Amino acid sequence: ELEVALKVVIVGNGGVGKSSMIQRYCKGTFTKDYKKTIGVDFLERQIEVDGEEVRLMLWDTAGQEEFDAITKAYYRGAQACVLAFSTTDRDSFEAAHSWKLKVENECGEIPTVIVQNKIDLMDQSVVNPEEADLLARALGCRLLRTSVKEDVNVAAVFRHLAARCLAE
Ligand code: GDP
Ligand code: MG
Repeated sequence: ELEVALKVVIVGNGGVGKSSMIQRYCKGTFTKDYKKTIGVDFLERQIEVDGEEVRLMLWDTAGQEEFDAITKAYYRGAQACVLAFSTTDRDSFEAAHSWKLKVENECGEIPTVIVQNKIDLMDQSVVNPEEADLLARALGCRLLRTSVKEDVNVAAVFRHLAARCLAE
């Protein structure tokens, strides 16, 4: 049987929870300070979508996003994208548009989900729901609200992307 393998890149400002999301989804754990394992480019998880086995390879950055220094190798061959911002970080929300352009530049149009993470901190929110909806509409992407900490909606992000890729 043919197995589908998908390279997924996770972009967004530092601190929004990208590494935590990968760790949560692939290892089922959450810690306050996740340190990328040296030498490991991605973590993977296999799921079934519409009766098909899909191997998702989730690529993490080692913090280079802070210096706008993500290498071409990171984006090369990516078939899907998670674009994340944080409920409690206004700059990360404002940066979403430029992250979308960056990915488009390197990968062309690939299935992308906008993720508003840290919804467990909604009482400290600096992004109102309408703005987030408008952003997603402007970028032509689905918006999903997640809490990596409380494991809310994380699996849905990757299920959605895998289904989109299979449908193409
Ligand atoms: P990255 O720089 O985008 O990779 O972000 P990290 O995964 O390193 O996460 C930055 C910080 O946010 C860490 O202290 C995480 O524990 C925390 N964090 C990640 N996701 C959540 C979440 O859903 N809720 C809360 N409250 N904290 C989170
Ligand atoms: Mg990280």
